[in-house]
Amino acid sequence: MKEFDYIIIGGGCAGLSLAYELEIHDKLKNKTLAIIEPRGEYKRDKTWSFWKVFSHNFDDCVKKNWINFTINTPNETKYVDCQSTPYQTIDSGRFYEKILSKLKLNKNIQFFKNIDEVDKSDSIIFNSVPNFRNNQGKLWQHFYGVEIETDKDFFDDEIFNLMDFACDQRNRVHFFYTLPFTKRNALVETTWISELNNENLEDYEDQIDNYLGNDLNIRNCKINFKENGAIPLFRQEPINNSKEIFIGSAGGMTRLSTGYTFLNIQDQSRYIRENIENIRKAKPYKIHKKYDFLDKILLRVLKNNSSDMGNIFLKVFNTKPKTAINFLSNKSDLSEDIKVILKMPKWKFVKEII
Ligand SMILES: Cc1cc2nc3c(=O)[nH]c(=O)nc-3n(C[C@H](O)[C@H](O)[C@H](O)COP(=O)(O)OP(=O)(O)OC[C@H]3O[C@@H](n4cnc5c(N)ncnc54)[C@H](O)[C@@H]3O)c2cc1C
Repeated sequence: MKEFDYIIIGGGCAGLSLAYELEIHDKLKNKTLAIIEPRGEYKRDKTWSFWKVFSHNFDDCVKKNWINFTINTPNETKYVDCQSTPYQTIDSGRFYEKILSKLKLNKNIQFFKNIDEVDKSDSIIFNSVPNFRNNQGKLWQHFYGVEIETDKDFFDDEIFNLMDFACDQRNRVHFFYTLPFTKRNALVETTWISELNNENLEDYEDQIDNYLGNDLNIRNCKINFKENGAIPLFRQEPINNSKEIFIGSAGGMTRLSTGYTFLNIQDQSRYIRENIENIRKAKPYKIHKKYDFLDKILLRVLKNNSSDMGNIFLKVFNTKPKTAINFLSNKSDLSEDIKVILKMPKWKFVKEII
């Protein structure tokens, strides 16, 4: 069996981002890399969106940028300008194609379907395969989305809707999310935060039909793409004595209050590349502890006050847009943290801390 300097288990977002980062910085000129990925073919399977709070390697995979968005509850609509940190959507199909065509030029990089096909005894292993055991009672962000095409101009593609809470909540947190790519083409998602133990919440197609027909007033449209998923809003338990370095969702790169992961994966990849010569001894890259602390309190508030969630997110944006976006993208400084915290309903948060 062949030996490799590095092995990446899981060639998804984190595995490929890391391989690409190493490759473009010439870290694989004299080193070998095996990527273990069981999927038969790469095609578009996800739509990754985020506020661009720092530059990344994938601007050419961006499907659309927006500099304005709305959040709405049944009583209020908030318009937010995010000119300095545009919201971007990356098409995973373009992302896979760009990375794979680059990696295949380097003979030191090989793909395998199964880890048993390589000798892993002396390799440095980066593992992105999630293993979320003991998840009873934990919260997930679960969603289903469709990319639709209408037969006439319908959407204002200059502005997207981050969260529409003016919908059936069923004692959980529920909102719709709409990304208009053109006047006739948009991704519309129904998103829940729940323990994922109630199948009644999973009538996603009816929820979307209802929203398209009754809320957006779209009678005729074609569905060009579907995506669904569940993002754990909790951390994977550490695996005892493991020498593997966990990356991506498995490596704690998901922001617990929002599910945003893509840009954290890019930060983690850059950190690993900068420290690759000494990576076994380097401190593991982590999202700053303050965000895990605050997010866990927020999730507890949310569990006990699900109907208030729309108002709580609106309050986050009662600060300057840049402050709120930096906070949600884990790039805020102490003064920005304080500004966001001061907008929160204090008694509910204090109760959960106690
Ligand atoms: C539908 C969807 C939409 C999302 N949208 C956003 C978004 O808009 N913004 C954002 O920031 N985050 C988003 N996320 C969260 C996060 O960015 C993604 O989940 C991202 O793909 C995580 O990257 P990853 O590499 O950790 O996991 P994945 O991309 O899932 O990669 C894991 C890889 O491991 C492979 N694998 C599985 N089992 C094995 C095995 N036994 N051996 C080897 N390989 C294996 C899988 O085939 C896969 O390729 C979304 C998640 C989902 C599911």
